[in-house]
Amino acid sequence: MRRIHIEAHAKVNLGLSVTGARPDGYHDIETLFQTISLSDTVFLEASKAGIGLSCEGIQVPGGPSNLAWQAATLLTRELAAPAMSITLFKRIPVGAGLGGGSADAAAVLMGGRALFDLEASDTKLMSLALEIGSDVPFLLRGGTARGVGRGEILEPVAPLSGFCLLLVTPAFKVRAEDAYARVRIGLTRDASYTKLNSSAIREGELGSLVTAFRNDLEPGVVACYPEVGAVKQALLDAGVQAAVMSGSGPTVIGLVRSSEEATSLLPRLGGHGWQIHIVEPIDSGCRVEGA
Ligand code: ATP
Repeated sequence: MRRIHIEAHAKVNLGLSVTGARPDGYHDIETLFQTISLSDTVFLEASKAGIGLSCEGIQVPGGPSNLAWQAATLLTRELAAPAMSITLFKRIPVGAGLGGGSADAAAVLMGGRALFDLEASDTKLMSLALEIGSDVPFLLRGGTARGVGRGEILEPVAPLSGFCLLLVTPAFKVRAEDAYARVRIGLTRDASYTKLNSSAIREGELGSLVTAFRNDLEPGVVACYPEVGAVKQALLDAGVQAAVMSGSGPTVIGLVRSSEEATSLLPRLGGHGWQIHIVEPIDSGCRVEGA
């Protein structure tokens, strides 16, 4: 039976400004999204026994609460796709501000279309993605993008390169709803901050990227979870160029020039029980690998 696998890449928010509360309960944001080399692997195959989901690696709940399951349900309902069996090999820390669940959902949408040769335009997939969550449209497309609205209105930004990120994730989860409930709106009012001059980054000049490293959700999360502030301080003390919480946290990302530099800083971050990943920016979203 045909089986495909998809690399479902995580994202970071290099910067995030909350610009307003919306009547639908969400917030308007302006963010600079970046997909990164850290990924889950999602395996898909047709199933005669209805939608099924199993998980290897980091464990997450199976069943309808799983965003990958919800993506498969949407494909069957909206595009008459056959049922599929999903296996997740999870590496992306869960509830960490890295969009892991959203990436898995994007992978099922993209992979399901390829597996069953579904007639669905990219625009249709993007609209299904938004039904699942605000970050799913970006994770379908990936790369570097400015996101406004709930984060689903995407404006491509020239690919960023010439840097690495140290991801430091403390051993607890933050619910996105809780992070947004504590936000003070408009802390970063200068809306141009995510409109980066990425050519400067390509030339190895990290200065303009440093100016993006701000997150309006961070003060509220730090007030509730002081360890997030400790992680950020540890990264700065270790010598990163800049550090900021990604999305709703608790992962804090540290900006460095190279993976060698990131590796050299590791001894200064040990001993706290934090998960650490060294990642690179990538210029794609989820990728169907074997069809
Ligand atoms: P975001 O940055 O998009 O808010 P996050 O990285 O903070 O997301 P996720 O890892 O996507 O958070 O997980 C958030 C919640 O979603 C968890 O409580 C988890 O139980 C649930 N969830 C549902 N499906 C998945 C999945 N496939 N992988 C991980 N978590 C999932």
